[in-house]
Amino acid sequence: MTKRLYSEDPYKQLFEAVIERIEGNNAWLNQTCFYPESGGQAGDTGILNGQRVVDTQFDSEKSIIHILESIPTFKVGDQVEGQIDWDRRYKIMRIHAVSHIMEYFLFQVFGQLKLTGSHLNEKYDKSTYELDEKLDLEKLVEVAKRANKLIAQNLPIETWSDEKRPHFRYWKCGPIQMPCGGTHPNNTSEIGPIKIKRETGGRGREKVVTSLCSS
Ligand SMILES: [Zn+2]
Repeated sequence: MTKRLYSEDPYKQLFEAVIERIEGNNAWLNQTCFYPESGGQAGDTGILNGQRVVDTQFDSEKSIIHILESIPTFKVGDQVEGQIDWDRRYKIMRIHAVSHIMEYFLFQVFGQLKLTGSHLNEKYDKSTYELDEKLDLEKLVEVAKRANKLIAQNLPIETWSDEKRPHFRYWKCGPIQMPCGGTHPNNTSEIGPIKIKRETGGRGREKVVTSLCSS
């Protein structure tokens, strides 16, 4: 299984690895900083030995597939250098932390809500909730207010692995704790203020779109 360098250090951008397998445009390495799409978080892009990585995914055995733009020029056993697109990933990290904070205050303000999906990339977090009526705008403004207040407290963000399940990880910030294997910044001071928008996702579905005020 690919060693997940992003779990040990989400700020690591550059790494060396050995090629373990190649199939078409797909490459598997012994270790990587590239985060594979999962938990709603988009897969990383970047460079592997001068070639573009356009997406990163898990395979069925939870090893990590680096999807290249073209057929790899390296071969199995080669030592390669990788670099993730840091600007994009750093925004994703900040928005990922925001998505947990928003979810916490949405439940706090609205009470029972059924979260049916979440997708986050470098532009926004889009979470879908199942309910019969429109999300009350005043209450949504209150959610954003509480989220911004917490973020402004410059709180540390911690993550750690479950002792019994090595790839199962937790996330904690102030009063909020949940299971998550994604990448996040170390402190809410890195996030800055956020803004939200409501979208209708068809009958019985409401979407909350959260983004950063500063890029
Ligand atoms: Zn997370």
